[in-house]
Amino acid sequence: MLNGNVLDGKALASKVRTEVKERVDAFISRHGRAPGLDVILVGENAASVVYTRNKEKAAKEVGIRGVLHTLAGATTEAELLKKIDQLNRDPNVDGILVQLPLPKHINEMRVLDAIDPGKDVDGFHPINAGLLSSGRPSLVPCTPMGCMRLLAEADVSLEGANAVVLGRSNIVGKPVAQLLLHKHATVTIAHSRTRDLPALCRTADVLVAAVGRAELVRRDWVKAGAVVIDVGINRVVREGKSVLVGDVLFEEVKEVARAITPVPGGVGPMTIAYLLSNTVDAAVARAAT
Ligand code: NAD
Repeated sequence: MLNGNVLDGKALASKVRTEVKERVDAFISRHGRAPGLDVILVGENAASVVYTRNKEKAAKEVGIRGVLHTLAGATTEAELLKKIDQLNRDPNVDGILVQLPLPKHINEMRVLDAIDPGKDVDGFHPINAGLLSSGRPSLVPCTPMGCMRLLAEADVSLEGANAVVLGRSNIVGKPVAQLLLHKHATVTIAHSRTRDLPALCRTADVLVAAVGRAELVRRDWVKAGAVVIDVGINRVVREGKSVLVGDVLFEEVKEVARAITPVPGGVGPMTIAYLLSNTVDAAVARAAT
């Protein structure tokens, strides 16, 4: 999946989906039903509408029973919690995903905490975060899973490597740092208060950027031969057109990196592929209990 030194996330995601499809088929023959992924969308945020439709469609393409529940923007927190409770109890539902962000009148933390940890295919529940932190089996957030698979595919040796993670969110930065640590890398997590970010980044054999700042990482921030995973998705206007760019200045950094993911076509497609993979993991784990 390395095209020159560019890590092709689109091609790798397609390979992951094929693997998932095989596991779905095996699950169906063994248990007589398809794994189920239920996605909840509250309101009409334009980006969220597209994301949730894509998730439902991707699920169906690999044979997962994908269902999108669209709730009105005025839905109360109590109503949403009731819906989650209903899906928690439904034996045919293996994965529950509540699309973020939620409308302001709903407490995101209470909602995410209400999802059965065994069905928490986003891996955001504190039980799953705790299990990951303890190095125990759990449902792991999809984007970090995708990053690790990209590193594996690039044959990056992580043992003893210096890994720098830019960003400390619960969704990307912290879990990807945990996964790198489990692979025996020496991990540093940097954030908005870190001093001399360029100098720290230059120590990295593996650099994961997840900050949401367009093209923050420049060529002189990156050690020659480093592997760079760009998680950022930033919309900017270039020559009058709206385009997506990462947290890394791709054209510059590509000149020095041993391998680098593009935006779009890098981490993004891997995230959705691992959502499907997590759904099958959840289904298999639930069927075994
Ligand atoms: P977030 O806003 O929750 O966290 C950003 C982190 O970056 C924070 O920890 C903050 O301290 C740090 N930060 C901000 N400015 C910084 C700076 N100037 N220098 C150093 N650190 C800085 O964001 P998130 O949810 O972790 O997402 C990060 C980026 O990844 C966003 O662009 C988001 O759109 C993207 N993302 C992509 C995918 C994908 O599938 N490709 C999935 C999730 C998030």
